[in-house]
Amino acid sequence: MDGPPTAETVRNYAGGTWRRPAGDEGRDVVNPATGESVGRVDFSSAGDVDDAVAAANEAFEDWSETAVEARIQPLFRLKRLLEGNQESLAETLVTEHGKTTDEALGEIRRGIENVEVACGAPSLMQAGHLPHAAPDIDETAVRKPLGTFLAVTPFNFPAMIPLWFLPYAVATGNTFVLKPSERDPFTAVRIAELVEEAGFPDGVVNVVHGGPDTVNRLITHDGIEGVSFVGSTPIARHVYETAAGAGKRVQAQGGAKNHIVVSAEADLEHAVEQTVSSAFANAGQRCLANPVAVVEDAVYEPFAEALVDATGDLTVGPGLDADTEMGPLVSAAHRESVLEYVETGVAEGGRLLLDGRERDVPGEGSYLGPTIFGDVDPDDALAREEIFGPVLALVRASDFGEALDVVNGSRFGNAASLFTRDGGEARRFRHEVDAGNLGVNVGTAAPMAFFHFGGAKESFFGDLHAQGEDAIRFYTDETVYIERWPDA
Ligand code: NAD
Repeated sequence: MDGPPTAETVRNYAGGTWRRPAGDEGRDVVNPATGESVGRVDFSSAGDVDDAVAAANEAFEDWSETAVEARIQPLFRLKRLLEGNQESLAETLVTEHGKTTDEALGEIRRGIENVEVACGAPSLMQAGHLPHAAPDIDETAVRKPLGTFLAVTPFNFPAMIPLWFLPYAVATGNTFVLKPSERDPFTAVRIAELVEEAGFPDGVVNVVHGGPDTVNRLITHDGIEGVSFVGSTPIARHVYETAAGAGKRVQAQGGAKNHIVVSAEADLEHAVEQTVSSAFANAGQRCLANPVAVVEDAVYEPFAEALVDATGDLTVGPGLDADTEMGPLVSAAHRESVLEYVETGVAEGGRLLLDGRERDVPGEGSYLGPTIFGDVDPDDALAREEIFGPVLALVRASDFGEALDVVNGSRFGNAASLFTRDGGEARRFRHEVDAGNLGVNVGTAAPMAFFHFGGAKESFFGDLHAQGEDAIRFYTDETVYIERWPDA
């Protein structure tokens, strides 16, 4: 045992003990607002991975037979601990990720919501019972835990996304291993400290740090029953195919390129306000961001003008400053990748209505101001590729039908939103648009935790989604008992 984690170096949390990962690789964790290192993440060795999975498998023996009412007690305590420590957790998160404090508090709140929903496991786990299903026969369906589940998570919501999985996995009687993003791993360390304080038995929740090799060892590990993954589409596809090929249950959420449709019937003021928030919150690094706005010709000019006015006012700066409305990108390397898209956009003839490259924020942070392109061709990279930064493309559509065609032309299907005051258009949008989360007069279509988090096309690989009832079904297997008592 190496003792509890320090602020500078991450520790794995496995079997109730803290250990420094023993692999050869690792990387610095950098504060994107300053460019300074805030610590280091060492990657796990094969032995670390095996130890964590073995601890989780061992804990499953008792945990799966612990009464569900007892299993949710540490979750109630975790909820209170997350609430009580949200400011310090947010500070850790902002320091390694860059988002604003309000955004960090918002994602922690969304994470807590999942803990709350999972506390309903005694009701949610009940399946069905039908007396007299056939002559003299009663049938009962029961949901049972399966073993140890893994979650592999991305950098952009380091508190919320692990909590899309952890509470449901353990409430249903499974044990859990988290492999958080190596770009901002300290938030997961802080959550693991709170998990320890909440009093889960040793081995029920485990955290192992690392990169692709760690993931690849875990997703084919004999001791792992199922895998939840969230990240970019190429890695989601790889994890889905590899883990499913190894016989695991898998849900893999991938990348996105979402659309807002602004109809000629929209309340333009509301549409502008929501579009700014949807495109630029979290510096555009959200799978539910809407970085493409498809605007009907009749309202294109007034919408574009009002949008540029509203966006130009956003205060860009360090996430810990109270007046900051948009923080830096997660890293200098990611900023370079976003800048390349901006330059390609200019080269492809995109009309820059707002050039974020001109925004000057003092210091070495990886800042890029909000950027808006007008009259983008739907076939251009700006409208098709996931940029994952504060870059919004406006596409002109001659009518509502053409706008829906642009949305459905995307290979991604995570989310889409419509702004309109016409109920008929809203109905058509709901029926015709192929995306997992649909918003009407809502800029960011983010479902509450008691609904599943949708995703379609190349944004999702699998069947059962995260959150809500889908999560309960993902983490359990259903057995049906068929009983006949001829003498009864
Ligand atoms: P990423 O795919 O680079 O990394 C995600 C995880 O995969 C990390 O834990 C990382 O260690 C691991 N990983 C990276 N390369 C790997 C490889 N070759 N083999 C095995 N594992 C590997 O994603 P990111 O940059 O951290 O996060 C941003 C992406 O996540 C965006 O594409 C975004 O749209 C997506 N995302 C999707 C959702 C959703 O709900 N669909 C939610 C949040 C983020």
